[in-house]
Amino acid sequence: MSQRRKFLKQSLLGSALFIPGITQACAQGSKENLPGEKPLILSTWNHGLPANEAAFKKLQETGDIVDAVEAGVKDTELDLNNLSVGLQGLPDREGITTLDASIMKGDGSCGSVAFVRQVKHPISLARAVMEKTPHVMLAGEGARQFAIQEGFPMEEEKLSPKAQKAYDEWKKTSQYKPVINIENHDTIGMIGMDASGNLAGSCTTSGLAYKMHGRVGDSPIIGAGLYVDNEVGAATATGLGESIIRICGSFLIVELMRQGRTPQEACEEAVKRLIAKNQQDIKDIQAGFLAINKEGHIGAYAVHPGFNFAQGTLKGNILIDSKSHF
Ligand code: ASP
Repeated sequence: MSQRRKFLKQSLLGSALFIPGITQACAQGSKENLPGEKPLILSTWNHGLPANEAAFKKLQETGDIVDAVEAGVKDTELDLNNLSVGLQGLPDREGITTLDASIMKGDGSCGSVAFVRQVKHPISLARAVMEKTPHVMLAGEGARQFAIQEGFPMEEEKLSPKAQKAYDEWKKTSQYKPVINIENHDTIGMIGMDASGNLAGSCTTSGLAYKMHGRVGDSPIIGAGLYVDNEVGAATATGLGESIIRICGSFLIVELMRQGRTPQEACEEAVKRLIAKNQQDIKDIQAGFLAINKEGHIGAYAVHPGFNFAQGTLKGNILIDSKSHF
């Protein structure tokens, strides 16, 4: 059974919340064949399937879409098999895992943490920055201190066995080059809308494997890895953060939707823009975007094939292959 089918099956069996029902055609992004379902949650990559389930469960419990997008990606932050989200993620080139995360509500409230160590749930720390401080972003040691002060669960600084093994292997050559594949670019970005049309989003990652110490990607940069506006829609990104930051990718998509583009058209335009601004290296750059608008229409598009995403509604939770430019 292919990975995609396996995940679909597991997901549908794994939750009483979802029943099958959405067809592959729903994902193609044109206005005509979209579900327009609310509530609706989209997440990047196949880890989005269990994350969507966790998000829907929380939405049922509290009715709050911010709680839902936080709970959804927390599930991924704990997934020991995931080498690009959470403390089990691949380290930087000094052998230290550093995390980036952001969260945003449709009213413009947002919070993020960057280059933070030892924090088990960076997404919850980002939420605490949003709700408990006058700031939007905390980085590095300051973010870690804030986590300690707030009583967040912390972990000893030790690589997971899988990450240690991969790092030891990498050290044999110590070559860093961004590579197009799922393993090295695997952030979870989640955007969701409740039944009343309120939007929220979350994004969390350990960033690029073997990055320079101190490197921060797009995920904690509001407007790059995530942007949400209740008047228009929401967008999130995954892939090479540098290429996404250069075009303010998620903000760009929301603004294009504000000007009348469909989510699909907006994602495609953002990918075109990204390619134009990163032409020299584009063969080695993967990036993918997800978007939803107020009507519950969706968009997804990537630079290269291989990007997929999970779409969850009350009717089902399915993994969909995104279209791509190349
Ligand atoms: N966007 C993330 C970053 O550049 C990487 C990823 O999507 O996996 O840090």
